[in-house]
Amino acid sequence: LVNPSVLTQPVYEPGRPIEDVARELGLDPAGIIKLASNENPLGTSPRALAAMQRALGQSNMYPDGGCIALRERLAQRHKVEAGQIVVGNGSNELIELLGHVFLRPGDEVVMGTPAFIVYKLVTLLFGATPVEVPLTNHVHDLAAMSAAITERTKLVFLPCPNNPTGTNNDGAEVKAWVATMPPHVVVVVDEAYAEYLEESPDWTGEWSAGRKLVILRTFSKIFGMAAQRVGYACAGTELAGLLQRVRQPFNVNAIGQAGALAAVDDEDWVTACQRANRAGFRQVEDGLKRLGVVYVPSVGNFLLANVRDGRAVFDRMQRAGVVVRPVGVYGLPEWVRITIGTAEQNDRMLAALEASLAT
Ligand code: PMP
Repeated sequence: LVNPSVLTQPVYEPGRPIEDVARELGLDPAGIIKLASNENPLGTSPRALAAMQRALGQSNMYPDGGCIALRERLAQRHKVEAGQIVVGNGSNELIELLGHVFLRPGDEVVMGTPAFIVYKLVTLLFGATPVEVPLTNHVHDLAAMSAAITERTKLVFLPCPNNPTGTNNDGAEVKAWVATMPPHVVVVVDEAYAEYLEESPDWTGEWSAGRKLVILRTFSKIFGMAAQRVGYACAGTELAGLLQRVRQPFNVNAIGQAGALAAVDDEDWVTACQRANRAGFRQVEDGLKRLGVVYVPSVGNFLLANVRDGRAVFDRMQRAGVVVRPVGVYGLPEWVRITIGTAEQNDRMLAALEASLAT
């Protein structure tokens, strides 16, 4: 009776909430720090927070199902038409909507490995085949990805930067690569961590040049709104219209919409978070070097560290109240992924890591 793709579907394991970890270990939740899900350690844009508090008063009303105000503001931000923007319940939902629009059993989806796991989960859910192209030195191999494209390929995913490696491909190279895609393929460039970069490509003219391109962004990272689940896609008008057809009528809640609308204008917040992230990186990298831990240089807000037995070190650090992410599911059993925290959190993380390596 059940769709076979559902029965074989792997279950996504998120970073566990602090309360859950505290209960299991008998620890005080206040003493636990979570550096497992690439969340913003500084919190939420204060402008967004105030707007969300105001929006709570309208809780009896359905949200704007078309996300009109937010789409108009995002269109301005990216210098495109509002008809090119689709807002989703996190960018995760937009990845699933792409599946609804494009994927049927027998289709192929080209992606790197290791890369953000949801590309593979969504591909499998629609009975399509993930074609996984190994990264070279932890970076997406664009030539190898092109070589993996067949006439069955529908989607190609490129995260810029990638999760879990934190690496990025050169913007100009990505742009040139997108221009080489055959016409039956849609390229999805996932820019969840773009605001942490010095610079990302300007895609403004790409749709008028006929590129079948989708850019994904999220409010979960630098804007600090992961709980509200707001992400968006920027695509050609026709493709954006297809995504609009397959979404739920009220897929993005009103509080998230209000927060996102206020967050977009909070440039001071973005600058402060970028600075803190860069300082945090220097601190964590210095600490890892001191401990002799090999890590992958990253441009996101997290990095991969080689601790030889990722699961064991994760367990020991968790018992010390520091939750990082084991990445065995990504085929990286020796590594843990660590989100860059505040200065104090980074110190605690490094101390817990040092103690965990010693045992
Ligand atoms: N893309 C990448 C590369 C990510 O790392 C994440 C979050 N971990 C997402 C998309 C999804 O983000 P959200 O659904 O919170 O917008």
